[in-house]
Amino acid sequence: MLTTHETFDGVRGAVITPDSPDYPEAARTPLGDSRPAVVLRPRDVDDVRRAVRAAAADGRPVAVRGGGHSFARLGTVDDGLVIDLAALDGVRLVGSDRVVVGGGATWGAVAQALAPHGLAISSGDTASVGVGGLLLSGGIGWMVRAHGLALDRLVSAQVVTAAGDLVTASAEERPDLFWALRGGGGGTAVVTEVELAAAPVTTLTFGTLTFRAAEAAEVLAGWATHMRHAPRALSSTVRLANPFAGGVDAPVEITVAALGAEGATAVEPLRRLGTLLSDGVAERPYVDILEPGAALPPGLRLTVRSGFVAPHRADDAVAEVAALAASPQPAAIVLHALGGAVADVPADATAYSHRDAELMVTTFAGGPAAAFDGVLAGVDGVWSRLAPHVQGSYRNFLDDTSPEAMAATHSAATQRRLAEIRASYDPDGVLGRVGRAR
Ligand SMILES: Cc1cc2nc3c(=O)[nH]c(=O)nc-3n(C[C@H](O)[C@H](O)[C@H](O)COP(=O)(O)OP(=O)(O)OC[C@H]3O[C@@H](n4cnc5c(N)ncnc54)[C@H](O)[C@@H]3O)c2cc1C
Repeated sequence: MLTTHETFDGVRGAVITPDSPDYPEAARTPLGDSRPAVVLRPRDVDDVRRAVRAAAADGRPVAVRGGGHSFARLGTVDDGLVIDLAALDGVRLVGSDRVVVGGGATWGAVAQALAPHGLAISSGDTASVGVGGLLLSGGIGWMVRAHGLALDRLVSAQVVTAAGDLVTASAEERPDLFWALRGGGGGTAVVTEVELAAAPVTTLTFGTLTFRAAEAAEVLAGWATHMRHAPRALSSTVRLANPFAGGVDAPVEITVAALGAEGATAVEPLRRLGTLLSDGVAERPYVDILEPGAALPPGLRLTVRSGFVAPHRADDAVAEVAALAASPQPAAIVLHALGGAVADVPADATAYSHRDAELMVTTFAGGPAAAFDGVLAGVDGVWSRLAPHVQGSYRNFLDDTSPEAMAATHSAATQRRLAEIRASYDPDGVLGRVGRAR
């Protein structure tokens, strides 16, 4: 029988096994520890091809890791193989507004590289999040209403298929694969490089306005009404009931990210929604508004769930969220205002299924492992109250990998088309042999 190192003999980059000194670091993601059998760290695109071929022959579950930030821990796998793309972290500007980015780069590196050229790409709120995972499932960032999802900026992708072939996907070349990569999530191919279209952006009017918890219902309703009609230059979120800021007594936090004079003007009415406790809104460079990111402290567990709100359910959903924020429950509740450029793209043009949503609701709750069942029960209670008002869920804000939960991230038509495309590029399901880390 071959040893692990003989099995992955062709791979030039690191082959890390439980007896390697690097194993504890290689097995860990920002969301916690895991126990992969092997972590392969290909050093370039050819090495990714070798790693994928070796993984296909090996037969164990495979996890591809970009930035490792999946709440569902999809960037790692217990007892299986991790293909960690960390070395493919290049970012280079090509032409006046195009950037070519490695499949293992982070959005912070992209923002840093683009800033000196007066360019930016709306991605997410955190610098350490990986380009690969965020892009493949959506990318709801601070300019989402102005510029759309991060995946809407994808021009082409270079991928390694399950057979180890290096191919390009774009509107002209393999449009079916290009469609699947824009919203289908991981599991179709290994993305080694993407070309993205950046937008001219230097600064935004950015920051957080806080209001009294007792005024949550009026402030939230006023925010939702304002955002429904606001120019797309304004993107915004609201956070309520943050357990680290007092739970039911936590202030309502409206964060705004506004482009140009039109966006800044649209912020003004939000300041008058209630009793303003603090105003941290100022003009800031885009690159500075991304949070650096942090690992979950050892021993803590986190649960993240999301759902989308259609325009005709928005008023009821907002009222329910305000009522939940005033009730004892364990989660911070965040609303993202959507619409704008997200809704410009036809529903079936990409594998992202939620173009028509006006809002997205997300809950974040955590606690020590010993008390986590209670947290989960509390979060279940929140979602049973939200259920009549929401549909589907956002693959990037989800920690449940059950088939039902994963299915809810796509429409039925998208699920069918994705399954067909995956079957043609990965007939043996090599990249779909996803296991679970817990
Ligand atoms: C602190 C934090 C803040 C966040 N903020 C936002 C936000 O503002 N907006 C938002 O939309 N999302 C946000 N997210 C969610 C984030 O988009 C997802 O967790 C995303 O999946 C992370 O991508 P990753 O590459 O870091 O993760 P990984 O765990 O490495 O990968 C996630 C999935 O993508 C696949 N994948 C990753 N890279 C590749 C690749 N190159 N080729 C093929 N498959 C790949 C993996 O196999 C896995 O299935 C946040 C997450 C965290 C932890």
